Amino acid sequence: MADQDPAAEGPLDVKMVGVIGAGQMGSGIAHVSALAGYDVRLSDISEEQAKAALEVIAANMDRQVKRGKIAEAEKDAALARIAPGGGLEIFGDCDVVIEAASENEEVKREIFKALCPLIKPQAIICSNTSSISITRLASVTDRPARFMGMHFMNPVPLMQLVELIRGIATDEATFETIRTLAERLGKTTAPAEDFPAFIVNRILLPMINEAVYTLYEGVGSVKSIDTAMKLGANHPMGPLELADFIGLDTCLSVMHVLYDGLADSKYRPCPLLVKYVEAGWLGKKAGRGFYDYSGDEPVPTR
Ligand code: NAD
Repeated sequence: MADQDPAAEGPLDVKMVGVIGAGQMGSGIAHVSALAGYDVRLSDISEEQAKAALEVIAANMDRQVKRGKIAEAEKDAALARIAPGGGLEIFGDCDVVIEAASENEEVKREIFKALCPLIKPQAIICSNTSSISITRLASVTDRPARFMGMHFMNPVPLMQLVELIRGIATDEATFETIRTLAERLGKTTAPAEDFPAFIVNRILLPMINEAVYTLYEGVGSVKSIDTAMKLGANHPMGPLELADFIGLDTCLSVMHVLYDGLADSKYRPCPLLVKYVEAGWLGKKAGRGFYDYSGDEPVPTR
């Protein structure tokens, strides 16, 4: 059986990277992949959304040019390597496809089922999920051996870490291919086992959830909680500011995965976090979360 596995022959020589979901994370992954010289295919639920993401990437690269991090010619070449599209058909020539759609297991499962018949048999599929079981996601594909977690941090161009998560069936050639890809993107990797929320979010999200409880119980205001943790624990961002930055929907999804997956009441999502998500106050990307982003400076809402 293993001999018939094309990836078992050794790491793949990756030339083209596909990215599914052109939100905060997908745009960032496309950005760093194109700058590293890979051809990139980027899709979202519509071609318009993928094209809009390309404009965001161009603006982010402009900032890098202004700061002297990259040359104008590098920016132009990188942007020319990214082809946006609306469906999954654009991934036919990709060696690796990285899924970065919304943190919803059903959405991701449907994507993988539809994707498999459209891509090369030897292509590797990765999920950028923050918390969902890699083994369970792999099981809906036709290639669990060539499926793994590649968990980038936000914002992708600035953050150094990529967590690498093997599912139970992930083979060594797949792991080595993705480790090499992450390193060529300039990242440092940390392997994590396939447990709910892996390492970073297993530790970070309960802290953020506790910060929301602290607000909910009136222990402190948004400003005092964030100031306390920045100056008292030497964190570069306050936990509520960070929650807004991650996206409150993503934070809530991760807490659900921890609560369901580890069956421990200490992971119960704070009712205030649930309420904010129900209100559509999803954080920075929605213009409002624990802060209001409609003016020049973020203003605390409580
Ligand atoms: P986002 O809401 O900014 O973007 C998600 C994108 O997926 C949207 O553009 C949406 O239109 C698209 N999408 C939804 N369904 C789709 C489908 N069927 N096909 C194609 N596109 C679809 O979210 P994000 O912050 O970019 O998060 C994406 C993934 O990355 C999630 O799994 C999240 O957990 C993970 N992640 C997020 C962070 C973070 O800090 N935000 C960090 C690491 C990992």
